[in-house]
This record gives sequence, C-alpha cells and structure tokens, in this order.
Amino acid sequence: MKLPSQLFVDGAYRNSASGRQTALVNPATEESFAEVVAADVADVKAAVESAHRAWDSGWRDLTPGKRTEMLFNVARQLREQTEEIARLETLHIGKPISDSRDEAALGARVFEYYAGAIGKFCGQTIPVARGGFDFTLRQPMGVVAAIVPWNFPFPIACWKAAPALAAGNCVVLKPASLSPLTALKLGELAHAAGLPPGVLQVLPGPGGAIGDALVTDPMVRKVSFTGSTEIGRRIMELAARDLKRISLELGGKSPNIVFADADWQRAAETSPMSVFANTGQDCCARSRVFVERSVFEPFVEKFVAATKKLVVGDPTKPETQLGPLVSSGQRTGVEEFLADARKRGSKFACGGGRLHSKGYYLEPTVLLEVGKEDRCWREEIFGPVVCITPFDDEAQMLREVNASPYGLSGSLWTNDIRRALRVSRAVQSGVLSVNSHSSVHVEAPFGGFKTSGLGRDLGMAAMEGYTELKNVYVAE
Ligand code: NAD
Ligand code: MN
Repeated sequence: MKLPSQLFVDGAYRNSASGRQTALVNPATEESFAEVVAADVADVKAAVESAHRAWDSGWRDLTPGKRTEMLFNVARQLREQTEEIARLETLHIGKPISDSRDEAALGARVFEYYAGAIGKFCGQTIPVARGGFDFTLRQPMGVVAAIVPWNFPFPIACWKAAPALAAGNCVVLKPASLSPLTALKLGELAHAAGLPPGVLQVLPGPGGAIGDALVTDPMVRKVSFTGSTEIGRRIMELAARDLKRISLELGGKSPNIVFADADWQRAAETSPMSVFANTGQDCCARSRVFVERSVFEPFVEKFVAATKKLVVGDPTKPETQLGPLVSSGQRTGVEEFLADARKRGSKFACGGGRLHSKGYYLEPTVLLEVGKEDRCWREEIFGPVVCITPFDDEAQMLREVNASPYGLSGSLWTNDIRRALRVSRAVQSGVLSVNSHSSVHVEAPFGGFKTSGLGRDLGMAAMEGYTELKNVYVAE
C-alpha cells in the first residue's frame, strides 16, 4: 500500500514550502511508520489562491447537471476504494477495521446524497405585498476552509467537502496532524474522478502552525470546523474581524437517560458501545448515564457485564470492537481523569487500567458515585470512561442533564410516548434518539446547542450553510 505523504494542491501531490514533516505513529504498535509533509503558511496562500482560481474560472458556473455528475463520479471512486481507505484509517488512528470500513462507505454515501441533492435544492417564490415577482437564490460563497479532527477523519472530511462542493464552492481541507492519510486520499480520488484542479485541496499539518492563516485569509469566505470547543472559540474570534461565516461542531457530554418503564435490559446491553465505541473518542459519546432508581442496580450489573465482554485489541482484526487511544498524549489525558476519580472516591465498577504491553490501550471504565462537581462528571473525557448515576425525579434529572455547558447528542429510553415527547423537548441538545443510540443520519441535520457548536452538518441544512441567501425582486 503506497501512503500519501505530500500536500494535495492544484490537482497534484506537492512538497511544502518549508519541507517540514510530521511523523506518524501507529497507536496500536507505538511504531513510527511514515512521515507526511506539513503545510506552511505559504502553502495555505497557494492552496487558497488555487481554490479561488478554480472557483472563479468554472466551478461556480458549472450547470447543476454537470456538478451532479462529477460528485457521483467521486462517490463511485470512493466506493471502489473503500478497503484501501479503511486500511489507511486504521493504520494512522487505530480505529477497528470494521468501523473503518463502515465509515469509508459512509463517506461515499455522503457524496451520493449531495450529488443527488443538487437538483433538489430550491429557492422560494414569495408573494410580496407590493406585487411584482420575488424569488430567492442560494449562491455559493467561494472558498470554504474545512478543518477536521482525528476521531472520524474520513467521514467528517466528506460531510464537509461534499455539501460545500455541491453548493458550488471550492474547498481547502485541513485534516488533523494525527490523521492526514484518508483526507489526502480523498483529494487524490476526487481528482481522479474528474474534479478540476483546485476544486478540493488538502493541507496536512499541525493546526497551530497554519490555522490562523487559513481562518483569516480574506479569500476564505466560510470556515467549517469540527474539533474542540477551545479551538472553536478561537476560530469564532478570528472570524469576527471579517464577519466570516462559520460552522462549528465541538465537544459534548451527552446524556443517556433510562426510565424504568423502558426495555432497560436492551438499553443496558447496548449502552456500553454508545460511549465506548471509537474508544470513547466520540463527540456524541453518551458519557453520563441517568438511570431511574428502581432499575439502577440491575441496569448497572448488565451494563458492566456487557462492558467486560467488549473485545479490546488489535484494530486490524475484524472481531475487534475497541482499539487503542489515538496517541500516548490522549491516553495520559484520560488517565488524569481517572486519577481525579480515584482521589475523589468514585467507585470503579470495572476498568481503570492499561491493557496489552504495546499500544495506547485503556480498559473501558465504568464509574459510579461520581460527584456532580467532579471533573469526570463535568468535562468531556474523550476516552473510554462512563459515569452512571441513579435518579428519582424526572424534573430534577433534567436539570442535571441541562446543567452541562454542552448540548450535542443524547439518548432517551422509555415506552411511554408522552414522556418520550416531553423529555425530547426538554433536553437541550441538537441531536437526540429515543430507544436507540444513533446520532448521525446523512439525511438529517447534525450539530449542537450551547458550547457544542453553531450551524449544522449533514442533511439539507449543511448545504444551506454553504450558501448565501439572495432575494431578487422584479417589478411588474
Ligand atoms: P482540535 O480542536 O485540537 O483539532 C481539530 C482540528 O483543528 C485539527 O485539524 C487541528 O489541527 C486543528 N487546529 C488546531 N489548532 C488550530 C488553530 N489554532 N486554528 C485552526 N485549526 C486548528 O480537536 P481534536 O483534538 O482533533 O478532536 C477532539 C475534539 O473534537 C473533541 O473535543 C471532540 O468532541 C470534538 N469533535 C466534535 C465533533 C462534532 O461533530 N461535534 C466530531 C468530532 C470531534
Ligand atoms: Mn487537539
């Protein structure tokens, strides 16, 4: 397998201006296996200029039919290469191969959805008071910067690039420094599928070095970011100068609420993967579980039993459910949370230690009796750690759920339809699922309330977010 190792700019792989490189470490083996070129400020300028050129010289004016055809061609290329994409994903971030395969296919499906959306994305005709003819247009913005994290590198890159391109923009994509391979592959395959040079550029490298240049470049009209709340805030501040459009998908501390009237046995068996999948490095992780008191003890027992059955190990094996943490630093960060939980006297129902002699593994960990002021309860851990707590009163429980500054996702388990509707309205989050743990649907809006974000990915909402809305009035 040949690994991408350069920037992808203007339709070809290139070296960076400085020649600086980032070493990639396989988190399952702790071995360095490749070096990838890191983009510099000069490369940002070149990529943004190339994207703007591509936009101005043809992409913006392409007919909807032609753009549809091109995005379907990209989707077909991705479908044909899902196995290679999956292997690259597993290699650089340690994601279990079966998940990597699903996510590679998801990326292709996102391109299919937005290819098909182009001809269904409509403005309005508005009966304005003075008569005449009034209609709206959804117009592309120009160059979009997409900055993505390392936890779902390929699907998130696709779900930013595809709607931005479908709406008629060109894209500069910046993957996280830990996960450049699948983003570069996306650029390569998209151009192999016929996207003109400059329409999709990929700039790997540390965000600290090029982030400001990318976000403040006057030719970048929109920044679409997924990552930490801390960097999201910084992007919002920088964007304020030019009133640049932004969308932000940030952190979470999502609740999983289980009522006694629910099929709580099924909830208990399926809930471990709602927080431990991707080794807990998931912005939608249901990391706070609220269980109605009367079923609390049997729920915890089943939850812990299901957790102990999870297969944690070599991510290249198809039976593996949890791989390592993405890096040594990520594991250390999670261990600091566990140390705090020990100091505070929380009860470890299972887990808490490292696993295997090589690789950044941690046991999935279930914490009980966690104080509502403790770090593990309040902060996003981004590792395989869950807190489970009993509740007696619905209203009091909802106050605790909504006390979090985050509001991304969550689950609710009940068989009482009135309760399901009432609690769905009350939980402050952008995404919620009843009697399931799904968060992401290609066709539906995805994003957060409060400090979990601004704007929405996926569905038609994302496409709207990559356009300016123009109103045209024609006198009669
Ligand atoms: P991060 O914020 O450190 O990095 C995200 C991206 O921003 C990376 O590409 C990084 O290189 C870049 N970056 C870093 N500094 C920058 C700067 N100064 N300017 C511009 N870009 C910069 O986040 P992470 O550690 O990669 O990912 C983990 C975080 O992402 C978690 O908080 C998680 O909840 C969040 N996340 C959210 C979603 C969502 O959809 N809401 C999805 C996945 C991850
Ligand atoms: Mn980070």
